[in-house]
Amino acid sequence: MINVTKTYFPPLDVYAKQLKRVWENEWLTNRGELLKELEDKLKSYLSVSDIIVMNNGTIPLQIAVKLLGKGGEIITTPFSYVATTSSIIWENCTPVFVDIHPEKFTIDYEKIEAAITEKTTCILATHVFGNVCDIEEIDLIAKKHNLKVIYDAAHCFGVQYKGQSVFEYGDISTCSFHATKLFHTGEGGAVFCKDETLRHQIYYSHNFGHNGPLDFHGLGINGKISELHAAMGLSVLPYMDEIIESRKKTVEWYQSRIDFTKKKSIKLKENSTWNYSYYPIVFENENQLLQKLQELNAININPRRYFYPSLNTIPYVKGKPMPVSEDIAKRILCLPLFVGIEEADLEKIITVINR
Ligand SMILES: *Cc1c(COP(=O)(O)O)cnc(C)c1O
Repeated sequence: MINVTKTYFPPLDVYAKQLKRVWENEWLTNRGELLKELEDKLKSYLSVSDIIVMNNGTIPLQIAVKLLGKGGEIITTPFSYVATTSSIIWENCTPVFVDIHPEKFTIDYEKIEAAITEKTTCILATHVFGNVCDIEEIDLIAKKHNLKVIYDAAHCFGVQYKGQSVFEYGDISTCSFHATKLFHTGEGGAVFCKDETLRHQIYYSHNFGHNGPLDFHGLGINGKISELHAAMGLSVLPYMDEIIESRKKTVEWYQSRIDFTKKKSIKLKENSTWNYSYYPIVFENENQLLQKLQELNAININPRRYFYPSLNTIPYVKGKPMPVSEDIAKRILCLPLFVGIEEADLEKIITVINR
């Protein structure tokens, strides 16, 4: 079965070497040596001023929403993975959806101001598929209305905007290191925050609120990642340039071979780099998508309907209609994209897609 993605496995002996360190240290979690090394290496690989690595990409979102959302309304995108919306609701805030740009698939900044009320506390937007949001426009609106900005940058490993890591933008930016993501630690994630006071709050929040063993700064949760996961991260990181290069080749191959007369891909933000984390195509209508999906499934190829359904329509969310997002969600398919995908399989995919 060819799936939409395939987890990158570093050579086993590379992972074993890192594990050996864990055994020698006899230290399995609570910010051990491997985690600290991973954070240092990520800081320099990504050129970021700060990083806190956590146990997944959802806890950082929840911490961000808890600290900045303050139980209010949060302006957010309906076109993302469910964790973007569920984190808002989980933290007793209210998601207020703003529709997306029909070609970039990121939140349509021109529609944000109309959604702001006196209860609005922040904007939580996703750089979907690694495509950078309209950061400057969003920032202007946030400043004007005294709102905080959180970016769900789960898809953005290695992405830069105007020569700087995209993780540097917003009050808080988060990433996921889940096994299906570009860079992974099995399960894992990270948070990026430049404000010292806010960073400190995030830091103690991810460790039960501890201030030393007997004292507490405040409320917290367990967002810590283990040394076994850090070992995986240290084993995958050295291969990242190779991984991105290989995916770039596949994306360029798709781009040169797909017949785009009745299909579209994504419009990337200007002044940004891309990490080839997903390859979405948008069909003319949902029937075509369903038919192609069925044909591909019949030859054991399993692309994914990322992201479907539009998040304003999921049962526990009472969102207003979002015509653009609902329409795109029905017509968009992410094609298989991973290191080691074979040309013969790509040919099979193209044959079906272009038929
Ligand atoms: C994967 C993902 C998350 C959640 O990350 P986990 O590490 O799986 O918890 C959040 N938002 C987006 C957009 C994602 O794709």
